[in-house]
Amino acid sequence: VKARGRDGIALHVPEEQVVAVDHLRLLGELRRGIQEGQLRLHYQPLVHLDGRASTAVEALVRWQHPERGLLPPGVFIEAAERSGLVHALGRWVLDAALAQVAVWDRTEGLGRVQVSVNLSTRQLTDPSLPADVGTALRRHGVDPGQLVLEVTETALMVDPDAARTTLLALRELGVGIAVDDFGTGYASLTYLQQFPVDELKIDRSFVAGLGRSDADDAIVASCVQLAHGLGLSAVAEGVEGAGQLEALRRLGCDYVQGYHLGRPMPPEDLVAWVADRAG
Ligand code: C2E
Ligand code: CA
Ligand code: CA
Ligand code: CA
Repeated sequence: VKARGRDGIALHVPEEQVVAVDHLRLLGELRRGIQEGQLRLHYQPLVHLDGRASTAVEALVRWQHPERGLLPPGVFIEAAERSGLVHALGRWVLDAALAQVAVWDRTEGLGRVQVSVNLSTRQLTDPSLPADVGTALRRHGVDPGQLVLEVTETALMVDPDAARTTLLALRELGVGIAVDDFGTGYASLTYLQQFPVDELKIDRSFVAGLGRSDADDAIVASCVQLAHGLGLSAVAEGVEGAGQLEALRRLGCDYVQGYHLGRPMPPEDLVAWVADRAG
């Protein structure tokens, strides 16, 4: 990699150092971005397959970067997680999502909206998380039943005892818990049973092959059965076509989420999306 020195002479800089500098710059910009209100939440609908009219959405963070435009979480979440900045980011996301739910609660044409918020591994092992969540719910006057927290299987397994303690405290509050990206991690079924969980979100890599791969058909079918066997709801993510939707209906999946139903959208678009679906 060549970089221009101050005097215009090309310098040779080892690749790792460039990456490290980029990484530091990104973190500095993100820290400032959080303070200066550059984060945004988009919301993607979860559709209940029994035709229930209730509205549920997943909050997905974006960063309105002053020069680089609207950045997806893939660009900055990992760096935030590794640096600990994800605590500040996570607090912002929770607060913004609950503030939005409170606005929707007062909006004509929308019933009670349920929001799912993604938790990072670090948040899950933070002992003050349940108290912070309780405070945020009270601050916005949102019913705990309107909040679902999504944790990945992998995050659960980093420190299963700490995760279990946190989840039990969250359940005590009345908040729902979803296991995200289910099937991609290493949580054994024995472990899964020990966590207070309400829904399994079947990873979109399996949903993608529905109807085209016998293996994926079998995996999704057994995820749905497992969820129901444990008394949980099954959610399929990444539903991109009518064929997948039909297959999921046949399998008895409870909720579906994906581009076929609705893309992640800015909050002001939700009323129109709901009206559209109601026909
Ligand atoms: P995730 O939790 O698995 O979220 C679903 C991702 O799949 C989202 O990407 C969503 O836009 C995308 N998606 C939805 N429907 C479809 C579809 O039909 N096809 C395909 N190919 N993709 C679909 P996004 O918004 O880029 O988020 C990526 C990941 O970033 C999320 O994956 C989640 O792990 C993480 N993330 C997002 N928001 C937050 C947050 O507020 N906090 C934390 N800690 N992580 C977040
Ligand atoms: Ca998620
Ligand atoms: Ca997921
Ligand atoms: Ca994912």
